[in-house]
Amino acid sequence: MLRYRKESDSDRAEKLMQATNFPTKENLYELYCDLCGENFFVNEILFDRVTRAIRAGFENPFVCDDCRRESDEEAYF
Ligand SMILES: [Zn+2]
Repeated sequence: MLRYRKESDSDRAEKLMQATNFPTKENLYELYCDLCGENFFVNEILFDRVTRAIRAGFENPFVCDDCRRESDEEAYF
């Protein structure tokens, strides 16, 4: 049961993980892209993941879709 719930939660999270240039109902948290430096709005799950990584001493792991496409050799998320 727990396992099933976890999987469906993360499926849902992946679908919602679309950064936008403006705040939306889901995307209330502001992040900046590590590559182009532009501001984006993301949902709580992604924001939490990124801030936890930063707090753990990693560089900002958030990269916007455009930059990610350009640097697809590097595996972000
Ligand atoms: Zn970018």
